[in-house]
Amino acid sequence: MIDSMPHVPLYIDGEWTKSTSEQWIDVTNPATNQPIARVPMATDDEMAAAIASAADTFQRWKEVAVPERARLMLEYQHLLKAHHDELAELLSSETGKNFADAKGDVWRGIEVVEQAANISSMMMGEIVENVATDIDCYSMTQPLGVCCGITPFNFPAMIPLWMFPMAIAAGNTFVLKPSEQVPLTAIRLVELFEQAGAPKGVLQIVHGGKPQVDFLLHHPEIRAISFVGSVPVARYIYQTGTHNLKRVQAFAGAKNHMVVMPDANKDQVVNNLVGASVGAAGQRCMAISVAVLVGSAKEILPELKEAMSKVKPGIWNDSNAGYGPLISPQAKARVLSLIQEGKDEGARCELDGSECTVDGYPEGNWVGPTLFSGVTTEMSIYQQEIFGPVLICLEVDTLDEAIELINNNPYGNGTSIFTACGAAARKFQHHIQVGQVGINVPIPVPLPFFSFTGWRGSFYGDLHAYGKQAIRFYTETKTVTSRWFYDDIPDGPNMTIHLR
Ligand code: NAD
Repeated sequence: MIDSMPHVPLYIDGEWTKSTSEQWIDVTNPATNQPIARVPMATDDEMAAAIASAADTFQRWKEVAVPERARLMLEYQHLLKAHHDELAELLSSETGKNFADAKGDVWRGIEVVEQAANISSMMMGEIVENVATDIDCYSMTQPLGVCCGITPFNFPAMIPLWMFPMAIAAGNTFVLKPSEQVPLTAIRLVELFEQAGAPKGVLQIVHGGKPQVDFLLHHPEIRAISFVGSVPVARYIYQTGTHNLKRVQAFAGAKNHMVVMPDANKDQVVNNLVGASVGAAGQRCMAISVAVLVGSAKEILPELKEAMSKVKPGIWNDSNAGYGPLISPQAKARVLSLIQEGKDEGARCELDGSECTVDGYPEGNWVGPTLFSGVTTEMSIYQQEIFGPVLICLEVDTLDEAIELINNNPYGNGTSIFTACGAAARKFQHHIQVGQVGINVPIPVPLPFFSFTGWRGSFYGDLHAYGKQAIRFYTETKTVTSRWFYDDIPDGPNMTIHLR
């Protein structure tokens, strides 16, 4: 049985190989919990070989003309679009996401590849002529070397595509370590990159968990680390990576609040809250998990409950299903225990998805839409990222109180306000200490010509993913001060620090 299971390969130095590791774990379909493949925990030798190949290839790849690197991205974008449905189906098989949402996951990644195809203009430096007599000063961007990416389970296409296309377009080589829970989509992304014409060694893929991540964090050839995942691991990666003097960007967990003002359109609020909270089973770092109902906005609760109760989870190709299963039995057990804690701590469970079943899929990790009201900030369902289809509601009297509540929460990934009042929206946008703000937009994920700008406990580092910030993250700036003597040479040595 196990031998007939597909073994997820490594991609090292342009070769697809079966790992020699003795440690393999199952990749499962979360709707059935049946294994669909086996993924290795790469050996130290395999990790070292991937990094060595990336380091060696960097010496040639950095010399490849920028427009040629852009053309690789154009070809890759074309192939990803041509394989969009196939990628989404594969992604659904390992995450359980419904097909439309899986297509969205792939699409948000394709958009980053489109942006990477603009690399020529993004690599542009700056120049000031005559910073002193006959002296010009200009800056240019140059790649760093070997960069790596460590990605989570919840966006198997989008998040790897946040990383390696930008890094490679900028002239770096890259080692990708996808989530061991969802390695299949990443493999297909790399196959298509190879098919698009990527030279061997530019991109490597390795698999594993903590030991393999530690190998990357400590390896002297790794210059920059991009990480997306949970808070404790993000902190560990940031601390260890920077301790080893590497550049690190670490995107972490979240608790995203939507403020509902009394003047907001009720139907819009309800529709947007339902989709943003239970869509993808709440397993989005930008999911709305907290509704902050200001004043009479609390009157939406009955309609919200009714709308949420109509949403049913189901398998990936069930067009009536609102979302899929949680990623694993462990994730489900964690969400159920938090729901129980919410009840024990005195929150009102308006809608309880704990006992959820889906016909024909008795083993799936199903949790139904769950709604709590009367939640307070001391409760664990407020303090912890639940990462399930659970929406909690808090009530406040004023917008100022809502802003204070959100600013006191340690996370700062995304937030939104629903209102008909421009002044309220402006005040919220200005005072809120959260990196991505939606005004009547529930999940304000920026398009790739901006950057993905989580703040505070949701991000460790300085420069964010994709957009201009990613180019700065994946490059060094070199500044040249230049003079060509075409006139008389000034008399004598200049003993001051001044240019003249
Ligand atoms: P995770 O932290 O468990 O795993 C992420 C990656 O880290 C995986 O590749 C995993 O192999 C590796 N890893 C796990 N434990 C490790 C350890 N002890 N040491 C080193 N590496 C380790 O996260 P997950 O469960 O896959 O993803 C869900 C989390 O990711 C949620 O908290 C979610 O909010 C967050 N997330 C954040 C963003 C964002 O942009 N801020 C986006 C997506 C997901």
